Amino acid sequence: MEKILIANRGEIAIRIIRACQELKLKTVAIFAKEDEFSVHRFKADEAYQVGAGKKPIEAYLDMDDIIRIAKMTGADAIHPGYGFLAENEVFAQKCAEAGINFIGPTVEQLDIFGDKIKAKLAAQKAGLHTIPGSNGPAKSLEDVKSFAAKHGYPIMVKAALGGGGRGMRIIENDSEIEESYNRARSEAKQSFGDDELYVEKYLKAPKHIEVQILADKHGNVLHLFERDCSVQRRHQKVIEVAPSISLAPKRRHEICQAAVQLMKSVSYQNAGTVEFLVTDDDFYFIEVNPRVQVEHTISEMITDVDIVQSQILVAAGKDLFKDLNLPHQAELKRHGVAIQCRVTTEDPENNFMPDTGKIETYRSPGGFGVRLDGGNAYAGAVITPYFDSLLVKACVQARNFVGAVLKMDRVLDEFRIRGVKTNIAFMRNVINNPVFLAGKASTTFIDSTPELFD
Ligand code: ADP
Repeated sequence: MEKILIANRGEIAIRIIRACQELKLKTVAIFAKEDEFSVHRFKADEAYQVGAGKKPIEAYLDMDDIIRIAKMTGADAIHPGYGFLAENEVFAQKCAEAGINFIGPTVEQLDIFGDKIKAKLAAQKAGLHTIPGSNGPAKSLEDVKSFAAKHGYPIMVKAALGGGGRGMRIIENDSEIEESYNRARSEAKQSFGDDELYVEKYLKAPKHIEVQILADKHGNVLHLFERDCSVQRRHQKVIEVAPSISLAPKRRHEICQAAVQLMKSVSYQNAGTVEFLVTDDDFYFIEVNPRVQVEHTISEMITDVDIVQSQILVAAGKDLFKDLNLPHQAELKRHGVAIQCRVTTEDPENNFMPDTGKIETYRSPGGFGVRLDGGNAYAGAVITPYFDSLLVKACVQARNFVGAVLKMDRVLDEFRIRGVKTNIAFMRNVINNPVFLAGKASTTFIDSTPELFD
């Protein structure tokens, strides 16, 4: 492998380019017309416009054009990042047919984990606990009604192909069932092109705990411990912590083992995350994200393992232990606590509406234990409405949770961003709230704590 095309934009494209540079690999960037001044294109050795004439997001989804650019530039591999084509098995197949190495799991694994119903069945087969549910698609309103009658409320309907917190609805009683079912279906159809739903019990205020996995083509599966991603707004992550400060060592061990067991059972390859919802009594598999995640940074900070470089090397056939020299599971140590805050150009006072415009002032924090992953955050940069509103990922690491919170508070305070609104003040409220400080924030914490918005 000598040259890698990065089929993405923004901070993750830059993160991947940096990994390539350290591995002495050449890089090819692609950009939509609206991104012609975006930083990722200037960081790569070569850059080409993709999807000419298409809408901004569609340009990055133009599989044939991406493969054309890869062939034209002689790239031998494509890193898809997250979002866009990262979990698209058709794209992975097209790469294979073009003789290009898709840096991710196999087509078959993408097929299983792209569909949450199939994923849930695979998890059950591997012996993991799943949330009581329909065990297959809920084909009609009647299916959902009979599930509710049998198991009681609250329940949740979810899109089989869902992601990003969309296509899911909580249903509290009989009177809501029809409207929620229809809404979830139409949202699923609109967002994911398929209206298949399933239904499961809605867990009240669980924690979202996920395990970072690395796996190679030789059957080695290594976990890099867990992240606590319970601080969410409308089922989307806002702040992540690694490791979770609220898990007993035994429970941590069980959860990490369950994740490894599942990934081994499907002979998983490359990086992936196994997600669980955790209650006081048990932990339940919810889904696998078969790609690098936004919050991979904090697992890197506590283990010193470069996840993106590892993805590239295992895709090239390298062995996690013999070639990458990673420690075996029993020897893998973690140190301290890392926290990530997703700084977005959203206005908390206006229902987190994305804000756009020119950044007039940008001064970023720094110092010991601080990591910033961004790219398009600088004075003079123009934030467009075309893409997601993630501006920069602020990560800190300290010896313990209290130290990490103090550092993050200092880091958020040190930012000076003028010209566009951000969620920084809101995140300071979150990390200084006693519930968060006690490690007790559950997935409903933000939505049920109005004082965070003061
Ligand atoms: P997505 O793929 O859209 O991110 P997930 O299945 O990963 O969806 O779920 C996202 C979040 O939605 C979870 O972290 C959790 O907060 C909430 N959630 C999902 N399923 C349930 C459930 N059965 N009970 C309670 N909360 C749930």
